[in-house]
Amino acid sequence: MRKLFALALGAAIFATPAFAQYPERAITMVVPFAAGGPTDTVTRLVAESMSKELGQQIVVENVGGAGGTLGAGKVAQAAPDGYTLLMHHIGMSTAPTLYRKLAFNPLEAFEYVGLVTEVPMVIVAKPGFEPADMKSLVEYVKANKDKVNYANAGIGAASHLCGMLFMSAIDTRVTTVPYKGTGPALTDLMGGQVDFMCDQTTNTTNQIKEGKIKAYATTTAKRLDALPDVPTAEESGYNDLTFGIWHGVYAPKGTPKEAIDKLSAALQKALKDPNVIERFASLGTAPVAEDQATPAAHEAKLKAEIARWKPVIEAAGEFAD
Ligand code: ASP
Repeated sequence: MRKLFALALGAAIFATPAFAQYPERAITMVVPFAAGGPTDTVTRLVAESMSKELGQQIVVENVGGAGGTLGAGKVAQAAPDGYTLLMHHIGMSTAPTLYRKLAFNPLEAFEYVGLVTEVPMVIVAKPGFEPADMKSLVEYVKANKDKVNYANAGIGAASHLCGMLFMSAIDTRVTTVPYKGTGPALTDLMGGQVDFMCDQTTNTTNQIKEGKIKAYATTTAKRLDALPDVPTAEESGYNDLTFGIWHGVYAPKGTPKEAIDKLSAALQKALKDPNVIERFASLGTAPVAEDQATPAAHEAKLKAEIARWKPVIEAAGEFAD
């Protein structure tokens, strides 16, 4: 026991000078969804800018599956050395209620680097889908509930949350088709293999503008500049569908503070990068304010969001093992 304590003390003493040089090699940032989807898009933009700031490459690794819980679980288990990070979204706050046996506790397994952005969602459907607007979409889904299907990225994904809220609001259940991310789901939606889904604007804006998919409603309080013709869900009377998909950067618990501080500073710089701001705007989103890209703001948001979604999920009565 004494030996262990001495070892830990030694590690703590030597950790500080070592981290003065951090980062000395490439960093992995895990995206808990498939490549080509909205979380992947946000991560690659931010990682590219943070890499410049840190002087080392941030390599994006896609670990999709189980609504983001596989990738998050992998990072929770990783060495806390500053070389494995996670970009995750609102799913980090819904998973602890949705999953009866989650392999990690979001409030104990991570250090928080900072918040990144809050991305709106939009309800979209395959090209040529019959309903013309949100009102007729609801009528159609109710009338054809045994026939239509809804794509998502698994239980715990933002697309799952949005679908769950939509189905609760219209009091109708339809078949869901889970993917490892909404990147591949969007490909199938464009191909007509699935009927409709709800996904971040970072994955859908261009395809809506190009007429490759149909858009019914955004989850925003006001119409988006990037999609001015798409009404909000509130305009059709669905007030419970107003929410944003917040994203944050995590590191395994125990990652030294020196590393976290450098990562937070690099994140704050990246969020002021004109290229990031411009690309975000074209996809219907914006970086958070600098004081939100901090460990304290991130931790407070996660706690508040776990508390916010718990009763909503419990009321919907949808859980996973
Ligand atoms: N948008 C997806 C979700 O449902 C995830 C992704 O593929 O980025 O959470």
